[in-house]
Amino acid sequence: MRKQIVAGNWKMNLTVTEGQALVQQVLEQLPELSAQKQVIFGTPFLHLCQAVAQTKDTANVGVAAQNCHHQASGAYTGEIAAGMLQAAGVQSVIIGHSERRMYNHEDNALLAKKVDAALAANLHVIFCCGESLDIRDADTQNAFVEQQLNESIFHLSAEQMAQVTIAYEPIWAIGTGRTASAAQAQDMHAHIRGVLAAKYGESISQQTSILYGGSCKASNAVELFSCPDVDGGLIGGASLLADDFLGIIRAMV
Ligand code: PEP
Repeated sequence: MRKQIVAGNWKMNLTVTEGQALVQQVLEQLPELSAQKQVIFGTPFLHLCQAVAQTKDTANVGVAAQNCHHQASGAYTGEIAAGMLQAAGVQSVIIGHSERRMYNHEDNALLAKKVDAALAANLHVIFCCGESLDIRDADTQNAFVEQQLNESIFHLSAEQMAQVTIAYEPIWAIGTGRTASAAQAQDMHAHIRGVLAAKYGESISQQTSILYGGSCKASNAVELFSCPDVDGGLIGGASLLADDFLGIIRAMV
């Protein structure tokens, strides 16, 4: 059985004090998580050490960074290397978020290097993919997402693929309040699982968690998470308030 995951992506929100309070509130009310369920706090860099310290004794709860550099070290002022994250106790890193693709011009080739750097540092990768509204309207989303996967993660070995979670995040649903319907999410997740099977075989395909992201909230999480190929969610806005995030976590357990 593959892992079900609810991962929050705080983006560029909350002070360290606010973030600390949020993690504490979530941990205080966290439902029991079986070994196959995982909760992740995706915080800004500045919060990571605090969040690691707060979560280290809670089983099946982890911390993710929202980015890492593609080089292991060097003269890259203002950047953070994957090895630094790993040494600080961070378990995962989100790579390929549409906001970084858009505002930081991260293309599929660069993202492939970031994925390599993260895996080389023994981080788990949450790799984001997803189409814009134009592509959805043209009904070419399957080919578009397949190309994103092809160019950024399909160079990995099967062993490396086991360290990757995929997050399907249609751009038109991120922060817009417009969620993909359960049927749209399921269709894309089944497509992604299909291309995984074609590339890596049925076993890797069935083991890879595929999360949905895009205006997911407690009120729609149950329906989305009940889709056979949806293994949880990557949550933006609704991860910033404890009650909202807990509502989504409860939809998973
Ligand atoms: C995200 O940014 O990963 C996301 C899914 O955002 P939101 O839940 O706010 O749409």
